[in-house]
Amino acid sequence: MMREIRGLNEECGVFGVWGIDNAATITYYALHALQHRGQEGCGIVRVRDRQFKRIKGEGLVTEIFKEENLRTLDGDMAIGHVRYSTTGGGGIENVQPFVFRHNTGDFALAHNGNIVNSQQLQRYLEERGSLFHSTSDSEILAHLIKKDNDNRDRLYAVLEALNMIDGAFAFVIMTASRLYACRDKHGLRPLSIAKLNGGYVVSSETCAIDIVGAEFIRDVEPGEVVIIDKDGLHSVDYSKYKRHNMCAMEYIYFARPDSDIEGTNVHSCRKETGKILYKEAPAAADIVIGVPDSSISAAIGYSEASGIPYEMGLIKNKYVGRTFIQPSQDLREKGVRMKLSAVHSIVRGKRVVLIDDSIVRGTTTQHIVRMLKQSGATEVHLRIASPPIMYPCFYGVDTSTYDELLCARIKEIDKVRAAIGANSLAFLSVGALYKAAGDRKELCTACFTGHYPTALYQPIEAANKDGKF
Ligand code: SF4
Repeated sequence: MMREIRGLNEECGVFGVWGIDNAATITYYALHALQHRGQEGCGIVRVRDRQFKRIKGEGLVTEIFKEENLRTLDGDMAIGHVRYSTTGGGGIENVQPFVFRHNTGDFALAHNGNIVNSQQLQRYLEERGSLFHSTSDSEILAHLIKKDNDNRDRLYAVLEALNMIDGAFAFVIMTASRLYACRDKHGLRPLSIAKLNGGYVVSSETCAIDIVGAEFIRDVEPGEVVIIDKDGLHSVDYSKYKRHNMCAMEYIYFARPDSDIEGTNVHSCRKETGKILYKEAPAAADIVIGVPDSSISAAIGYSEASGIPYEMGLIKNKYVGRTFIQPSQDLREKGVRMKLSAVHSIVRGKRVVLIDDSIVRGTTTQHIVRMLKQSGATEVHLRIASPPIMYPCFYGVDTSTYDELLCARIKEIDKVRAAIGANSLAFLSVGALYKAAGDRKELCTACFTGHYPTALYQPIEAANKDGKF
């Protein structure tokens, strides 16, 4: 799928290392494996002899880090972050990890997710004298940790702060001697722990754990803080309320296929959605095609279940970078599409089942269907390996605004089909998502159903206008 024009963007990836030499270099390789979770900015902070040093910038991991600057980040503890801007927008000041200087000890933090009561908390903190350096909601946790400025063990301050925030988060916090890995009590964002060379790593996705050669131990549980220090791993619950409402979009689209999320491999889950999709919405066709890359697993599943051969009917040009000069309107109309091409000799004269993982604005899907038809496909039967996206996400996934969501605007499936230009169209059921993701009982499906797992908070400006606060 082509993220930048699809309008569905991930919200970040975090990684942390404790007690392993060259921690920053390990973090660099891990961030590279997490790059799909955010391409706007990245950073690494290391700590050595209580000194924090950070390198960060706007761009890809390979653009920001070179051998020379990475070498200056020596030490055996580090945390890193890849960012796609959500709350607070872009800009270097919002690129993480954040480092906070304080007379009780410096610390650094990196965050994946979105705090839904951030406006209320920011106002509360500002009224107590806090000054915010960024417009990112991730800074709020740091201010909450430091708000009482007392000499209690920092753990108590962390637990208290986590209890005040609501929403989706995986936080990695690094002090001069400890690493804290924290996950929201709703279980919306993934975070896993592994061991390596006598030390530990924590990661948003297990693909980064594999890439650095670490051995998976377990996931951080919802509502849990895992503390890693010279005494090893310890665990404290900051909340007794615990749910496993993992973001369904992690399985459908965001996570890498080689990652396991809460015990279910992402590729296997997607393949299963494809199999169920065939049972729910069979199509008579000659070939099955998946939109690269994230829909290929589901297309393989559809092909296996139906017996219709899977073909490479679409090719993605992997080397079109962010800085590539896009074709002008005139060239676009002439059919110059740099990111995705239909393979004429494969699709010509064929009835095609096209599998895509989701429809957000619908513009990309419309282009692909048109492209396949122009390449000679006689019929295009579109099957979507997720339910229609009808509601916005408040947990750090940019699903575009409500008005831009095609299925929220046009509620009838046949009208969506006509707008896209496919011969037939069907979506996966919500129930199938639970089944495919390891027969789970809990999952966040709010962008499909409108059933949000957390409270939703009124924007503060609107609240003031209404005089409700
Ligand atoms: S609303 Fe959708 S995108 Fe947002 S966390 Fe839930 S499933 Fe994921």
